[in-house]
Amino acid sequence: MGIEEKLPAGILLSTVETIVGLSRKSSVWPATFGLACCAIEMMSTGTPRHDIARFGMERFSASPRQADLMIVAGRVSQKMAPVLRQIYDQMPEPKWVIAMGVCASSGGMFNNYAILQGVDHVVPVDIYLPGCPPRPEMLLDAIIKLHDKIRHTPLGANAKRQYSAEEDLALAAPATIEMTGLLR
Ligand code: SF4
Repeated sequence: MGIEEKLPAGILLSTVETIVGLSRKSSVWPATFGLACCAIEMMSTGTPRHDIARFGMERFSASPRQADLMIVAGRVSQKMAPVLRQIYDQMPEPKWVIAMGVCASSGGMFNNYAILQGVDHVVPVDIYLPGCPPRPEMLLDAIIKLHDKIRHTPLGANAKRQYSAEEDLALAAPATIEMTGLLR
């Protein structure tokens, strides 16, 4: 099963985009951003039982400048929203966001003035993870799906175009005050 058996001639033809995609998806470093109860499940994903280290992701970074994945674990208050955006802005490109749990994805059961009705009002989200709270296995599944997305991310000018289009879409979302939920 060694790479020598797969490549007996010792030659591999590929594209830069494929190699970069493989390298990036194998070295994602999450930023520590636990906000509420979902963060406990995120922390347990780092334990030996769930073993996030198998993806090279065990290093949760305390500095946004050394992180490229923001896992928003928990509800985001209106007061926290600008802080979250600032941390996102300090992360280098390319970067990705997982909205972990219904609160981060849509406000969940907190349909009130204090809670952001979805973190995609302030940052572009790559993966929405349902559940209250989602189990570590669900977070790992979201990470595997994100890996697939990272592997197929375009490079250079095409990538920039894609990021700004996604961000424009998020910013064009209706304001919280205009949204109708189950209680309105
Ligand atoms: S989704 Fe559930 S577990 Fe997660 S922050 Fe909201 S209330 Fe807590």
